[in-house]
Amino acid sequence: MTTTNRQQFASDNYAGTCPQAMHWFMEANASGHEPAYGEDRWTQKSTDMLRQLFDIDCDVYYVFNGTAANSLALASLCQSYHSVICSPVAHIETDECGGPEFFSNGSKLLVAEAQSDAAKLGKLTPEAINALVTKRSDIHYPRPKVVSITQATEMGTVYSVDEVRAISWMAKKHHLRLHMDGARFANAVAHLGCSPADITWKAGVDVLCFGGTKNGLPVGEAVVFFDKTMSEDFAYRVKQAGQLASKMRFISAPWVGLLENDVWLHNAAHANAMAQRLYSGLQCIAGVQVLHAPQANGVFAQLPPAVVQALYAKGWKFYQFIAGGGCRFMCAWDTQPESVDALLNDLKAELK
Ligand SMILES: *Cc1c(COP(=O)(O)O)cnc(C)c1O
Repeated sequence: MTTTNRQQFASDNYAGTCPQAMHWFMEANASGHEPAYGEDRWTQKSTDMLRQLFDIDCDVYYVFNGTAANSLALASLCQSYHSVICSPVAHIETDECGGPEFFSNGSKLLVAEAQSDAAKLGKLTPEAINALVTKRSDIHYPRPKVVSITQATEMGTVYSVDEVRAISWMAKKHHLRLHMDGARFANAVAHLGCSPADITWKAGVDVLCFGGTKNGLPVGEAVVFFDKTMSEDFAYRVKQAGQLASKMRFISAPWVGLLENDVWLHNAAHANAMAQRLYSGLQCIAGVQVLHAPQANGVFAQLPPAVVQALYAKGWKFYQFIAGGGCRFMCAWDTQPESVDALLNDLKAELK
């Protein structure tokens, strides 16, 4: 008999697989032998569903994780002497162990300034991009070629359609391509209520790394190229990087479960709603300083260090993301209201 662990707030990838993804995983397993390396019917089906979702004939590649998706997508947009503009808190800068630089054979990440109000919310701005591009134009500086934005951001905020458009306008002005790290793309779309096309290719995004793992898949991210001229040879990159799943149907079939009946959107909307519940609860507790309002599924707050330790001692898991006591609480597709309330109750007891 397996015991069930309590739900945690460290990351949305603590959660398991949602039932709809699991259903198609089992279906793919029940069908007997299937062609390998993506030649199977589930890969075809989920790819067609993604084309329908984005309302464009895009190129889709499945990889195991977000680090590979971002690294390989960026490498495909850059030569080794190019550079990628991103925010100082971008996952590609802080949490991918140099993967983008490694897979691009050395393209440098150019990090925007960290002090503006937008930067504090985890966002890049057209002005910050312009400043980095125009700072230098000589042969000694790695030539800017790509802008990378994270949607939803690492700070739990969401770029509006207008913000993405303004960024892509500036990117196009400087002949830069636009990459979107969408590890939490679903949470962003659920917040915005727009169509996936409106916030991606119609707003100027060239490549999207669409996260499935944090949205309820067992494993897997989709790299979506809206401009097929940019995906030339991408399949070889994926294979060389060890990211071509031979039994690809076990990544792609669960995507069918997410895409059918908009499960991806319902999962994300639920996680976002749980973050709102937590945010509201935290605002009512004296001694807790909630940072900005959440727009996606993460809540950020300052807690007294002794209270953080007391929560850890009670078995709660969450990251202290920002220096000086800032804590990050992530909600997942399966986070129950009772779990949020249990955390709030323990917190209230500590701050009495
Ligand atoms: C989780 C995450 C990723 C992907 O991380 P992996 O652990 O490599 O799957 C990428 N970008 C952001 C913003 C993330 O939060």
